[in-house]
Amino acid sequence: MNSFPGNLSNRLACRELDGSLRQLRLSSEMIDLYSNDYLGLANSPEIYQQADSWLAARKFQRSGSTGSRLLSGNSAIHLELESILQQFYKAERAVLFNSGYDANLGLLGSIIRRGDLVLMDELVHASIREGVRSSLGRALKFRHNDLNQLQELYDRNKPEDGNCYVVTESVFSMDGDSPNLGELANWCVNSGVRLIVDEAHAVGLFGPNGSGRVVDAGLEEMVFARVVTFGKAVGCHGAAVLGSTQLIEFLVNFAKPLIYSTSLPPHSLACIAVAHEAVTNDELRKKLWKLIDGFEAELNSLSISDYFVPSDSAIRCAVIRGNDQVKKASAQLAKHGFDVRPIISPTVPLGTERLRFCLHAYNTAGEIEKALSLVAQFYKGE
Ligand code: PMP
Repeated sequence: MNSFPGNLSNRLACRELDGSLRQLRLSSEMIDLYSNDYLGLANSPEIYQQADSWLAARKFQRSGSTGSRLLSGNSAIHLELESILQQFYKAERAVLFNSGYDANLGLLGSIIRRGDLVLMDELVHASIREGVRSSLGRALKFRHNDLNQLQELYDRNKPEDGNCYVVTESVFSMDGDSPNLGELANWCVNSGVRLIVDEAHAVGLFGPNGSGRVVDAGLEEMVFARVVTFGKAVGCHGAAVLGSTQLIEFLVNFAKPLIYSTSLPPHSLACIAVAHEAVTNDELRKKLWKLIDGFEAELNSLSISDYFVPSDSAIRCAVIRGNDQVKKASAQLAKHGFDVRPIISPTVPLGTERLRFCLHAYNTAGEIEKALSLVAQFYKGE
C-alpha cells in the first residue's frame, strides 16, 4: 500500500531527480549567488511595512481575495495595481495573473487557435511550452536566437488562414542571453506575425526604471503581448500580461488561470505596488550592473570566460558537463559558503549541465572574486 503504482515508481527511478523539497532555502550564513532576488527587494522589511500602510490607506486589510476576478475576487485595488503596472511598463493595458507560469498558460492557451502557427525559441521556459501545448495551434521550435531559421520555418509553414505567433524571452532564464529584439520585432511586423515576449528576467534590470527590454528598445507598439513577472527582481510574486485593450479584454473572458482561480490577495497586491516604487531606484540597478561588469572582468582575468555561456544579464552560467561533475562543483562552492545551484539534465540539454550564477545588487566584488577563483580551480582540476 505504501508503494507508488508501477508506472510512477518507474518514472521516478529512471529520471535523475533534482526535485526534493528537503532542499531548504539558503541559510543566512551562505552567500546567495542563486536566487532570483536580483535587487534584494524580497527581503526588504520596508516594502513589507509600506505594503501594510498602502492597504490601511485604502481600508483594505483583509487576508483573502475570496474568489476569481470574475466573481467575488475583483476589487478596487486589483484595478488600481493594473493601472500602476500599465503606466510603469508603458502598455495600453495590463491584467494580473497569479504567477508567471499562469500568465503564460493563460495567454498562450487562450489566444492560439486551431489553424494558427507558433514559432518559439527552442530554449523558452516550461510555462511557455505548456501554454502552447494546451492550445490547438501547431508549434515549431527555432534554433536559439536564430532569426534565419525562424524565417525559413515561417516560409515553409505559413498558415493559410490562421495567425502566426513568435514567442521568445527578452532574457533567457537558463542562459542569460537575449535575442536581437529590434530585428525580431521588425521582422514580425513586416511579416504580419504577432510577437510575444516574456520579460521575467529583464524586469528590474533593463529599461527606464527597470521597465524591461521592450521599453528599453522602444518596441511597445510592435509587440503583441508581454509577460512581466514579480517573483524575480520585483521581489514579490505574481505576474501581468501587457497588451492592447482588446487583448486584455479577450484574456479576461478566455484565459482559464484567470477565470477559474482565486485572485491574488490584498497583501500581495500591495507588495507588488510598493515594490514597483522601489524598483525605480537606479542606485540598486547601478550596483548590480557594476557587479555584472566586474564578473565579466574577473572571468577574463582568470581566463575562464570560454567555459561560460555568453550572456548580457545577471544570469551567468558555467558549463560543467555531467550531472555528477556539476553537483560536485556546487558542493565545493558550498563548502566555502557560496550557494550556487547545479542545473542538471534533463532540466538543461545533456552535455550543457551548468552552475547557474545569479548576481544581485547585494553581492560584493570580493564575493565574486572568491567564488570565481574556486570555479577556476575546479576547471583546472585542483
Ligand atoms: N517565464 C520565465 C522566463 C521564467 O524564468 C519563469 C520562472 N522561472 C516564469 C516565466 C514563471 O514565473 P513565476 O515564477 O512567476 O511563475
